[in-house]
Amino acid sequence: MDYSKVFYEINKSLVSYVDHGAVASYIPELQKISPDKFGVYLCTVDGKNFGFGDSNEKFSIQSISKVLSLTMAFEIEQDTLWKRVGVEPSGNPFNSLVQLEYDAGIPRNPFINAGAIVIADVLVSKLENPREDFIEFVRQLSGNNQIDYCDRIAQSEKSKGHRNAALCNLMKSFGNIDNNIHEVIDFYFDLCSIEMTCSELARTFLFLANYGKDPINGNQIISSSKSKRINAVMQLCGLYDEAGEFSFKVGLPGKSGVGGGIVVVHPGKYSMVVWSPRLNKKGNSNKGMRFLEEFTSYTESSIF
Ligand code: GLU
Repeated sequence: MDYSKVFYEINKSLVSYVDHGAVASYIPELQKISPDKFGVYLCTVDGKNFGFGDSNEKFSIQSISKVLSLTMAFEIEQDTLWKRVGVEPSGNPFNSLVQLEYDAGIPRNPFINAGAIVIADVLVSKLENPREDFIEFVRQLSGNNQIDYCDRIAQSEKSKGHRNAALCNLMKSFGNIDNNIHEVIDFYFDLCSIEMTCSELARTFLFLANYGKDPINGNQIISSSKSKRINAVMQLCGLYDEAGEFSFKVGLPGKSGVGGGIVVVHPGKYSMVVWSPRLNKKGNSNKGMRFLEEFTSYTESSIF
């Protein structure tokens, strides 16, 4: 299929679409991005690539990195990981403290902030040099050794990161954080600060569209079984407390970030990224969701 033509047609059909969303402002540096940026990129598992708009411009991937840190931690810890973090949708905002108190410090899933902080704690415990080892893993997945953290964004988030620090402290009080909380939270902010383009991100996620194996170089990143499980968690928990709506309208496993990116995978077919920084009230890219809904309808490629 000529996906470039599809992108063009969908974009044309959305010319009169008015996006009332707003760029994330609780991380001061994110506010500086031009709100009307728009990029799309799709990589097929058989090696074809299609881009549209600002698909080669770097943006802050934020929570999308939670899938990559989960991949690494799952490979290290195997199923014992699930003693410390669940796989259920939260139905609460991604940075909520409320549920964590009820659940005795065990986050509902690895994609809400609390869950990703536990994953960061696992990596701090198990990696020799967490910061370096993790970015090396992302570079390997992306095939690009220039991918990096953005210290400016990490520092900006840290300056306003009281809520994440509260989550970390609460979990520490329940015994679900092993390391020094400052070390864990700093690493968490680093993970969120990675910058990538739509094309780099789509390339990075290809292994999840191909049952754990990178189709470009043949590396088995994780087992097929783990890949299916990570996709299952994305399907149920990847779009904050809008995962049901996303499944209903788009029908693919996906993960969003407050930088305005959304990555989706269609197992056996493709990985795809849309980026549009205006967010809805749940923290998901407004136009990104709309575009993906049109895309899977047009191409009849919802997994359902
Ligand atoms: N760094 C952001 C935070 O912790 C990530 C949120 C997101 O993209 O969902 O609030």
